[in-house]
Amino acid sequence: MSQGLITAAYIIAAILFIGSLNGLSSQESAKRGNIFGIIGMIIAVIATISSAQVSGMGYITVAMAIGAGIGVRLALKVEMTSMPELIAVLHSFVGLAAVFIGFNSYLEHGMLIGVEKTIHDVEVFLGIFIGAVTFTGSIVAFGKLSGKINSSPLNLPGKNWLNVAVLAATSFLLISFVSGDSGLFALIVMTIIALAFGWHLVASIGGADMPVVVSMLNSYSGWAAAATGFMLSNDLLIITGALVGSSGAILSYIMCKAMNRSFVSVILGGFGAEVIAQDGDAEQGEHFETSAQEVADSLLAAKNVIIVPGYGMAVAQAQYPVAELTKKLRAKGKNVRFGIHPVAGRLPGHMNVLLAEAKVPYDIVLEMDEINEDFPDTDVVLVIGANDTVNPAANEPGTPISGMPVLHVWEADKVVVFKRSMASGYAGVQNPLFFKENSEMLFGDAKSSVDAILANI
Ligand code: NDP
Repeated sequence: MSQGLITAAYIIAAILFIGSLNGLSSQESAKRGNIFGIIGMIIAVIATISSAQVSGMGYITVAMAIGAGIGVRLALKVEMTSMPELIAVLHSFVGLAAVFIGFNSYLEHGMLIGVEKTIHDVEVFLGIFIGAVTFTGSIVAFGKLSGKINSSPLNLPGKNWLNVAVLAATSFLLISFVSGDSGLFALIVMTIIALAFGWHLVASIGGADMPVVVSMLNSYSGWAAAATGFMLSNDLLIITGALVGSSGAILSYIMCKAMNRSFVSVILGGFGAEVIAQDGDAEQGEHFETSAQEVADSLLAAKNVIIVPGYGMAVAQAQYPVAELTKKLRAKGKNVRFGIHPVAGRLPGHMNVLLAEAKVPYDIVLEMDEINEDFPDTDVVLVIGANDTVNPAANEPGTPISGMPVLHVWEADKVVVFKRSMASGYAGVQNPLFFKENSEMLFGDAKSSVDAILANI
């Protein structure tokens, strides 16, 4: 393919990627966004491998076939609840690729001189640094999201000073590397430091702040890809990396605002946050148990009902009976609406996706800010597998969720909490909601519980 044709293909792919991001910003257009992204990527791959710079098509074809095979298998197998872990793993691949390409680019362009060499050295150094931080940070995020690593924050003594020391050492190594004094040695030492830094940064962040970490790593992976684009002199990779990097940064900012967190504090591994250790599962009083029959009776007597779903609804795959229950209650003239917390579940928009999948009408699915004032006029709230996002302890100081806005479900006449035990939520903070006088616990798997209520309506 001629260079002109490749450039044209890259421009079309870049436009499709922008259209894809635009489409992904709302549920109605998300499918279209995905299709744009797929077409853009196909064009990008074909144009890149047709370039005169690319040789060894045999190896590339085999690698692509293996990669595509693994990708298809994973996509078919992965549960919706495991998507955040999968995304974290994919981010780690982008980071690792940036590290490998950085070393390769350094070894290949050893003959450059003057300004060109300086620019290239800075690209290589920063690309490897961002890639290594993204790689280990994403692996820790994977561990925390999948429950393989404890979600509570790692609190090493003087952790903020450790971070400052890393940044100082990295700056020193950058100067030494660019001035040509230390070469490969500086690059290797920096890579080891950056790997440890990425690990420490994410390990220091508590469970409740993980939504920001996921979007932040998304952003880092974009910048790592952009750095790779500079090293390979590939314009499309620079554009795509910058798109992912900036959209991830915007998402991190939105998440921080939704959780009332300081962006800088979170990205520096909880800098300045003071949290008192919690005994997450300690009971704080008496709780009242209810039955599916009693909940069905309360719903039949209610006029206004709000359903607040959380991660447990995703685990139980309860969205279909929940949609069925909504339909039945609406048919009986009840005003049924959903209250969605911005960080409910384990992915931005997780609950919206599940409810859309079960065909719950969009217009009754409201954001936290749109519904929070309506709880005092609500007869029954069904909290289905949500915990941290309805925890009034967020209004008290000293807990990992302190300061995070939550849904004020306790202001309704009656709250029914669907879960399997008295265990705490993802952030490890016990929930005083369960011990309030107007709260009742309906223990069991959320899907079975909603099915049992349906049988009584
Ligand atoms: P939580 O994770 O706080 O709590 C979920 C609850 O669901 C648990 O208390 C659990 O209790 C219950 N549960 C689990 N399985 C079932 C089941 N099969 N049936 C019934 N109940 C079940 O949920 P929230 O959605 O309220 O909060 C999300 C948390 O995740 C926040 O801390 C958020 O910061 C964090 N997070 C969010 C991300 C995002 O992007 N949205 C990303 C990463 C983290 P039990 O075991 O007793 O059943």
